[in-house]
Amino acid sequence: MYITKTLKQKKTQHLDDLARASGRCYSKVVSLVRKTHKQKNFWLSKGSVQKYLRHKAYALHSQSIQACADTYFDSLKSFFQVRKSNSDAKPPKRTPRYFKVRWKSSAIRLRDGHLILSNGKGREPVILEDVSEKPNYVEMFFKRGHYYFALVYKVGVPPKQDTGITVSVDMGEIHPIVSFNGKRTTIYNGRQLRSIMQYRNKIKASFSAKMDRCEKRSKSWYKLLKAKRKTLDKLDAQIKDAEHKITSRFITDCEKAKADTIVIGDLKGIRDNIKYSKKSNQKLHQWAFARIADKITYKAELAGIHVVSESEAWTSQTCPQCGNRKKPSDRNYHCKQCEFTYHRDGVGAINIFNKVSGLINNPVVGTLAFPFGVRYNQHLCRSA
Ligand SMILES: [Zn+2]
Repeated sequence: MYITKTLKQKKTQHLDDLARASGRCYSKVVSLVRKTHKQKNFWLSKGSVQKYLRHKAYALHSQSIQACADTYFDSLKSFFQVRKSNSDAKPPKRTPRYFKVRWKSSAIRLRDGHLILSNGKGREPVILEDVSEKPNYVEMFFKRGHYYFALVYKVGVPPKQDTGITVSVDMGEIHPIVSFNGKRTTIYNGRQLRSIMQYRNKIKASFSAKMDRCEKRSKSWYKLLKAKRKTLDKLDAQIKDAEHKITSRFITDCEKAKADTIVIGDLKGIRDNIKYSKKSNQKLHQWAFARIADKITYKAELAGIHVVSESEAWTSQTCPQCGNRKKPSDRNYHCKQCEFTYHRDGVGAINIFNKVSGLINNPVVGTLAFPFGVRYNQHLCRSA
């Protein structure tokens, strides 16, 4: 399993040149493969393209050049896969001016806390400071005015446990995580996370509106762009930090409870319990759910816990005791058919748990403890 650590670096001429060289190399691969297919009606193999690239003098490490072919042939492979079921699929054809740069293990050295990324003999290497371990590979990409270096480490994964204890997770708009372990519901409070996200959207919209009033690419337009990027970067870091703290705390609780499986409500379908005013609003939430689900998944993997997903259709509207469907109308979910009453935020997690245990429509709920709240705070940490 791989984990990634990302470092941000200032945009410099040197890094621009590397991204440009990579763009040239990648575009060459794209055009070579496509041209051959068009003229001779066959697809070149990755091996032959890499052989061809060996004689090319792009200002990059030889392995970084080969990595451009790796990337293109990976997307070509998924095109072949998609083509089986969709005859309209097109092979990847984008020939970007700038492209990500990948350093493989042989181009990476670690010396006195400095990570040295070689760009081939006689060329200036890239040096990253404060790195304590040598990564398996490094990737440089450009985002919002800065270069980022993703340091990718391969880590050992502990063997999966088998305790028979399951915890379900419901991700909601109000709370990022509500979990249920068969007895108790735990609410991981997301008020702070939600307020940062709302603030971020407001700020983004206000910058965009201001920029619309300026002439595009004018001096004041660029000034606003720079300020916008800076603010959004800062808020994104805060969001990421909050998401890490909440998911880490959740995983620690699962470890303490000796859970061997986490069930996450499947996000692919449209959630039934949220009225979306705009399509984009829905997208935004799905994106936020996916980020939380990703973090839970990889942290669970590192803790030796299985993660499975379960369709969450109707889970927030169904009575966990009798299966009757009804929308909750206030803070409490109350079923008129069987008189089941519970805090509405816990109902989704209980239903997901019941679904995976094969207990739907079974009167399992008897005496439920009131939801237990975990408040997010800045000092919440993994060992809490
Ligand atoms: Zn009921």
